Amino acid sequence: MSAYRIQGETGEWEVVIGLEVHAQVVSKSKLFSGASAEYGAEPNTHVSLVDAAFPGMLPVLNQECVAQAVRTGLGLKAEINLFSRFDRKNYFYADLPFGYQISQFEFPIVGKGVVEIELADGTKRQIGITRLHLEQDAGKSIHDQDPTRSFIDLNRAGVALMEIVSEPDIRSPEEAGAYLRKLRQILRYLGTCDGNMEEGSMRADVNVSVRKEGEEYRTRCEIKNVNSVRYVMQAIEVEATRQVEIWESGGTVDQETRLFDHLKSETRSLRNKEDAHDYRYFPDPDLLPLEIEQSWVDELKAALPELPEDKRARLEKEYGVSAYESAVLTAEQNVADFYEEVAKDADARLATNWILGDFFAALNRTGRSIEDSPVSAQGLRELLSLISDSTINGKIAKEVLEDMVETGESAKEIVERKGLKQVTDTGAIEKSIQDILDANADKVAEYKSGKDKLFGFFVGQTMKAMKGKANPAIVNELLKKLLNA
Ligand code: ADP
Ligand code: MG
Repeated sequence: MSAYRIQGETGEWEVVIGLEVHAQVVSKSKLFSGASAEYGAEPNTHVSLVDAAFPGMLPVLNQECVAQAVRTGLGLKAEINLFSRFDRKNYFYADLPFGYQISQFEFPIVGKGVVEIELADGTKRQIGITRLHLEQDAGKSIHDQDPTRSFIDLNRAGVALMEIVSEPDIRSPEEAGAYLRKLRQILRYLGTCDGNMEEGSMRADVNVSVRKEGEEYRTRCEIKNVNSVRYVMQAIEVEATRQVEIWESGGTVDQETRLFDHLKSETRSLRNKEDAHDYRYFPDPDLLPLEIEQSWVDELKAALPELPEDKRARLEKEYGVSAYESAVLTAEQNVADFYEEVAKDADARLATNWILGDFFAALNRTGRSIEDSPVSAQGLRELLSLISDSTINGKIAKEVLEDMVETGESAKEIVERKGLKQVTDTGAIEKSIQDILDANADKVAEYKSGKDKLFGFFVGQTMKAMKGKANPAIVNELLKKLLNA
């Protein structure tokens, strides 16, 4: 693959990217309080006295959130730190009633790990994970409900986030997109974050710098809170181009926090980037350091679900699917589950072709996803078994599937009701072929004088005469015999 470069007046520039992903932890309650962490409730209904920072309230650590962070660390093949610590990160914001965020700074719960990404051309790259730490989310300021006032909703205040920081190993918008999708896939498989970027349960801060090949890293800018994979990719391109223009016109890029405006396709300065010391981090005196046992980590590890890469490798081995097919089948865990449910007791090749082909097409056409599929895995397996045992042929099966999607009837019921059973009676097929050959003596003569292509015509005519129900293999065989007689 040719490397991604930005062409400037002074030559080519390499783009350097590091992502900080905030992933909302799947848990019933918040990181330090018992209030519900559920999304979408009426404003300020999921707020405890702790979340509202009433004086004298004490945070109590939610063990399930810690378990989720450990699971995620294991899924990222990362070091799990048995000792970690919560620090206060001090800053003022209207939706942050404490005046600080409880986060982890010096001692995060998860250390170095790795995510393997795969690009469109099949190239694989390893992207380093620097760390993962736990922190609280802030509340939400609402500016668009009233012309003169802003409102505060504290439902999100105190909800657990995992901040997952990558090394500056990413080199193109495509790689950034692949990294985010892979990370999201891993989190979903683990059940530690739902990965829903529209609802804000996964958002990315995008750090971008540019350099000439072989140079040290130059100053980066951080684009805050980008909430879709597509916008991340666009923001990188726009921001890298802006930086190249600055360097080439003799300027310097300032370390800044910027915003991406997708409507104008530009990034704008928000503020100068704070350095860590600006936050006056210090250990939260209300919380003990977090010490966990290796045996607990081992337990969590033993109970991890199969991860996407392992599932891919296994599907390839057990069902003989190609690398491309395994990637599509494992993109979402419930698709992989559905596939296996069908393929385990069916002809695996048939199952793969049908699921990736007609079944997906039917879902698309009806605007459904696998969860609300009108055809169950068992129902599809029954259809395939009717093909395998020659009750119906493939062409009729497509028709049956369409009916199944529409009526919810089973394959057997439809075949029965419509009388679609395949005709394997060679006598009946032979008779039908003979009639067609008699009615088309001119074409038979042409065929015999070398026009081989007409064979397809005879097949088509026979199938038509038999209403599509003839066994195609028998038709082919008998046609050959009668035409060459
Ligand atoms: P902070 O927490 O202040 O934002 P970090 O040092 O933790 O700073 O880095 C944040 C992110 O910036 C990481 O994802 C890292 O990979 C990325 N990064 C660091 N240096 C560069 C650079 N020169 N160009 C692009 N990204 C960078
Ligand atoms: Mg940052």
